[in-house]
Amino acid sequence: MAEDCIFCKIIAGSILTKKIYEDDDVVAFIDIKPIAPVHFMIVPKLHVGSLQDCQPAQQDLLGKILLLAPKLALEQGLKGFRTMINTGAEGGQEVFHLHVHIFGGGEILPKI
Ligand code: AMP
Ligand code: ZN
Repeated sequence: MAEDCIFCKIIAGSILTKKIYEDDDVVAFIDIKPIAPVHFMIVPKLHVGSLQDCQPAQQDLLGKILLLAPKLALEQGLKGFRTMINTGAEGGQEVFHLHVHIFGGGEILPKI
């Protein structure tokens, strides 16, 4: 756990969220400022700042998160979805605890 990390506080239970999934390694919760009708995040319980801070030791964890994405998306009613990992301030990252955004629903997302 990192002091002053909002996602570590969510994982510890001191900040409440709409949690949709939890196991020993990860938690998933609804984004507080959704950019689509369905928007949630999968977050490792281990505090890792970003994708840039991941090491080979996190390979299984990263794979687990990606495999969980379609399962949780389906549970949330999404037929298709977009994943986004903002990495570093220049990549638009605001919370420096690794997380994968999953969003969709409503209209077909524009091509990027
Ligand atoms: P990023 O810009 O990729 O670092 O995304 C951080 C995301 O965390 C943003 O989409 C925020 O809306 C979301 N967020 C920040 N605080 C909370 C919170 N307390 N509960 C749920 N989502 C949050
Ligand atoms: Zn953290």
